[in-house]
Formats: sequence, C-alpha cells, structure tokens
Amino acid sequence: MRGIAHDRSLRTAWDSFEREVLEYLRALIRLDTTNPPGNERIATDFLAARLGAEGIASVVLEKQPTRANLVARLKGAGGLPPLMLSSHTDVVPVEPKRWTRPAFGAELADGCVWGRGAIDMKSKGAMDLGLMLALARAGVVLNRDIIMAAVADEEAGSELGSRFLVEHHPDLVRAGWVLNEAGGFTLHLGGRRYYPIQVAEKGYVTVKMTVSGPPGHGSIPRSDSAIATLAELVARISRTPMRTRVTPLMKRTLDQLGIEVHNAPPLFRAMMANTVAPTIMRAGYKDNVIPGEASVVLDGRTLPGETPESLLAELREIVGPEPALEVLKTAPPAEGSADTPLFRLIAHHVEAADPGARAIAWMLPGATDSKFYAQLGATCYGFAPVRIGPRMPYGALYHGNDERIPVDGFLWGLRLYTEIVLSFLGLPFGQVFS
Ligand SMILES: [Zn+2]
Repeated sequence: MRGIAHDRSLRTAWDSFEREVLEYLRALIRLDTTNPPGNERIATDFLAARLGAEGIASVVLEKQPTRANLVARLKGAGGLPPLMLSSHTDVVPVEPKRWTRPAFGAELADGCVWGRGAIDMKSKGAMDLGLMLALARAGVVLNRDIIMAAVADEEAGSELGSRFLVEHHPDLVRAGWVLNEAGGFTLHLGGRRYYPIQVAEKGYVTVKMTVSGPPGHGSIPRSDSAIATLAELVARISRTPMRTRVTPLMKRTLDQLGIEVHNAPPLFRAMMANTVAPTIMRAGYKDNVIPGEASVVLDGRTLPGETPESLLAELREIVGPEPALEVLKTAPPAEGSADTPLFRLIAHHVEAADPGARAIAWMLPGATDSKFYAQLGATCYGFAPVRIGPRMPYGALYHGNDERIPVDGFLWGLRLYTEIVLSFLGLPFGQVFS
C-alpha cells in the first residue's frame, strides 16, 4: 500500500513534522465527535483523506451510520508480529459554560492547545497519523506491519468501535503489540517524576440491583419499604470495602512508588480490589405513593484474574440473598506482561528523555480499547506520552473542563513516541526524519 510514496523516498524535516502533527491535533479537536451521538465519521473522513493523499489506503467500517472506524496498514517485510497504533476518535460531552475557551476551538493560548480531546485522545491520534505519513514518505522497509486504528465509541463502552472490529473484523486489527492511551504522562509524586505505562486494566460488570417491599399510601410511612431497604443496602455497599488483593504487578508498582498497601490513596486502592459504585437509583412515580420496587445500577469493576461470577459472589456477601441482581453488561479485565522487549524499549527511552524520572508499569482502574485488542492476543501498553509540569492539573483535565495539552509537552511526547516506534520497527531515526 506504500505505492506512490515508496518511489518518492522523502525524509521529513523534524521541525516541519512537529508543526504538521500539531495542526493535525488542532484539526481533530475542531471536529466535534462528542459521544453521544458520536458522529466519528467526520474524523475518519479527515484521517482517510490525509492518508489517501499520500498513497495509504484505509478501510472504514461502521456498525451504525456515522459511527465510523478507520484501519490503515503499512506492510512490513520482516514477518514479525504487527505493531498497532491505537486511538479512539470520540470525546466525552462538554458543559460549554464552564469552559474558559471554546471546547472545539483548538485555540493556542498560554502555551497550550485547548479543546475537548486535547488529552483524551486526539493528541495520540494526531501522532499516529503523522507517523504513518512520515513512514510512507520515507519509503522505508519495515520489519513488521504497522497498523493504525482510529475507532469510534470508546467513551461509551466500545460496542461500535474496537469491540465491533475485534468481533467482526479480527484480521484487520490482530496485532502482536498495541500502543494505546492511558499512560506515558508525567506523574508527580513525593517530589519525583514517574511515567506510568499501562500494562493492565480492570474489567467491568454493570449490575442492576432491585428490591421489593410492601407498597402503600405516603401518609402512613413504614420502615420496610423498598426505598428504605435499598437505601440501607446502598449505604452498606458504600461502607464495606471489597477484599484487598494485590496482584504481582501492583505489588511491584507500589514498591516502586514507595506506597504501602494499608495507606494507599483512593486511586491505588481501586487497583487492589474489585469495586462496586452505585451510579443510578430509581424508585417511585407519585409523591404520595410508597412504591413497591426500587433499583440501583452498580458500576462493578473486576481485577485481572476475576470474573463476573466472582464479583457477584462478593457483592452477595455484602447485600445478602434478598435483592435481585441482574447483569446488564460485562467486559473482561486484561493484563499484559511488563517483561517484554517493547516495554523495556519504552522504559529506556522514557528515562533518557526525562533524566531522573522513572518509567513504571501500572493498572488502569477504568477501561480502554486495549481490553478488546488483547482478546486477539496482543500485548497492549497504554503509552500516549506527554510531559506535564507539576502545577498542571492533569488528572482533572481527563473528561474535565478546560481540557488542554501543553504544546512543549506534546512535542516532547511526539519525539519520544517517534523514537520508540522507529526503533521497534528497526529503523534509524535519520532514515525517516532529517
Ligand atoms: Zn480515552
């Protein structure tokens, strides 16, 4: 598929590459792919046009109209397991009134690019696009296929995106290695800098819990109503921690960070147990009627090694035999190895790019597309590198107001990401960039 570009064999000047990729980021932010409704097709149209203009064919697939997924591939000669560069093109909704700048304006201000998706995760999508183009221009021989996947619907559970591709078009996205979101940022902790590389993520088990009780007139209260029982159970769930289980990966991460299991902060506690969080409660329909039924949706998350059944069993111990538990949706946890050539390559380059900092393996309490690609046998790492200063409220920018990415930190990440990918493809930097 390298066709035209192969004959040109042009190296890309690094300086202009930085400007090019920054403009891809801004162009992607300006495309409003808020999910719901998604409308990711406007992003895949943009990507397909840029790739196509330089001779890279892409496949665009939709499970539902406008919910487009794009996959492109540069063929390698070496026969090693393919490397897939993975991103999602959808973003979460914004509350415009709470933003300092337009959420889809991609303004450059205060040293940052502002807009929804600046961090999660159009920045990495822009890097992936730039790298594919630079490789095609250079007309180089790759030691393995490199795949770019830019998919829909990650922010709503991946049903129309990675999960759809994995279940219905596995040959397109089967890779040995995947580089995806949720890692590679600067974590400032105890006066030191760390770069978490995600190697594991939790699964989810969404459960609806329903209780019944005698209905009645609101003028005659009773303590055994469905609402009272449910409130009691929800309070009990929130008060009762689930069993702590420290996986070997987390043991290593906590040791590296100098955190002790018994006084780990909440983020880390969520990496050491199954969890259940009440998120939606429903009961009642009239102000003077005591309803006979009340329900709550529980967002359950499972550690690697756990199953929906094991989470339900643990939940039963807390709520007892009475309430009805109905599983609404599930996805499995995933865990890769941190003992691989690619992980070591990433860690080596990260620590060279920010002297004194340390790369660490870690687990995401949430979910990404990686869990689905991992089902096809890929080792997936969350690595979307960006250097962040200690005063930047990085965690709050994920899905938060005023999402933005520092330009210098983004370009630092672009250089690091490029060096790692080229090295893994067996290419000297100077063969692709000048
Ligand atoms: Zn994301």
